[in-house]
Amino acid sequence: MGTLFVISGPSGVGKGTLVKLLMREDKELALSVSCTTRNPRAGEKDGESYFFLSREEFCKRKDEDGFLEWDEHFGNFYGTPKSFVLEQLKTKSVILEIDVKGALQVKQALKGSSVSPVLIMIAPPSEEALATRLSRRGSESEEELKTRLERVKYELSNRDRYDYTVVNDDLGEAKETLQKIIETEKSKRRF
Ligand code: ADP
Ligand code: 5GP
Repeated sequence: MGTLFVISGPSGVGKGTLVKLLMREDKELALSVSCTTRNPRAGEKDGESYFFLSREEFCKRKDEDGFLEWDEHFGNFYGTPKSFVLEQLKTKSVILEIDVKGALQVKQALKGSSVSPVLIMIAPPSEEALATRLSRRGSESEEELKTRLERVKYELSNRDRYDYTVVNDDLGEAKETLQKIIETEKSKRRF
């Protein structure tokens, strides 16, 4: 049985970048691909960054209890596919990259089961650095940027509810810290 790692942090903090690096170097990790009703950004392929669903398709899956958790952000729905995660965990460790509310919902949903998720918060070195990263990424309008930055305080205020916080200042260092956490937690569950 693998370990479930839940990675959260404000939009633009570098979660996607870090997870990509982790996956490239550890073939024993599986990444849960979430479903969303938002439009793909340039370069995003269906089934890689997300499964892009219509609102109708998303609601159908939700009603069929197909999500471990789901939430609405910035007017779009996002959800973690339940069967994929539970199936992969039989043989591998799994990474979920989801927001704070979703992470706490996953923890609640799995209470009393044999899966005990490890929650990891990625924090920016400063709010200014985060704002620069988000605007450099260039994937959001001014209005969307503002909404995402307003959520930062809420996300970071929950860091005490997480098992670990990793500051993504130098990308290489943050990746190594994450790798150490993953190895430590995996070995705790090995017998
Ligand atoms: P998230 O998935 O958390 O929304 P991304 O991974 O898309 O964030 O990163 C947002 C932007 O910040 C991207 O353009 C990425 O290249 C850049 N970035 C990520 N980590 C760092 C870092 N440590 N230093 C500088 N820029 C970074
Ligand atoms: P983005 O549109 O920038 O890819 O993601 C917007 C927000 O949705 C981020 O905070 C991200 O963590 C969150 N998110 C992505 N996938 C999921 C998911 O499956 N469930 C929940 N609850 N949030 C998600």
